[in-house]
Amino acid sequence: MALLTTEALVLRGYKLGETSKLVVLLTRERGKLRAVARGARGARPRYQSALEPLSEVRVTLYGRQGSELLRLGNAELLHSAFRAGTKSLDAALLLSGCAELVDAFCPEGEVEEKVYRLALAVVRAAEAGATPELLSRYLEAWLLRLTGLHPQLDVCASCGAVLPSGRLQYHRPAHGFVCEGCGPATGPELSPAARALLVGFIRRTPESLMGSAGPECRELESFLRERITFHLERDLRSPRVIRDMRRAAS
Ligand SMILES: [Zn+2]
Repeated sequence: MALLTTEALVLRGYKLGETSKLVVLLTRERGKLRAVARGARGARPRYQSALEPLSEVRVTLYGRQGSELLRLGNAELLHSAFRAGTKSLDAALLLSGCAELVDAFCPEGEVEEKVYRLALAVVRAAEAGATPELLSRYLEAWLLRLTGLHPQLDVCASCGAVLPSGRLQYHRPAHGFVCEGCGPATGPELSPAARALLVGFIRRTPESLMGSAGPECRELESFLRERITFHLERDLRSPRVIRDMRRAAS
């Protein structure tokens, strides 16, 4: 009897033996889990494009409750990320980075409904023509926010004073932005434009991120990547995740 039928996002697939694949799924109901897809490779692959990264699928899973590795039964493709990925090289890079980051941020077996919806919204926005670089920053900022790791943008991380408008100074020991009085800050510094972009991510939808990405987007890239790398090295035990993150950041 099937253990579970659920919607899921495919995060990764690894070759397994001659004809199988090990797939990492972010399921809507049970969070991230791993399953063996028998017959997924070879001359007549069973699942065709349903197991490509960021495909949205409805899967039936077999196995024991609490088992670390399940067996994949049916996988019905609900939505493919293929069209979004063929828009441009930047869009393809966004999607592969998206799958890796979501994988890295989600611990196995914890329900991550908000992360699931975030990843889905980013894929749909890429398909609708939103700017990949802006979508990448949006995803990074929101992953930090959903895991409680995004620094506050309006109050000092040391003394709680309201931060004046304008540039922001990050202070690494405080894990946040600090006021003049609590400085000198270690940096990095965020320009007013980068701050405005980051603030805008809180209320904007990913579909609204159209148009060219300015220098403030590149500024945010190094800032957000540094926060993410720090978080992953501290909190995740898997060295693979860190290696992947370094590769994605280089
Ligand atoms: Zn302060």
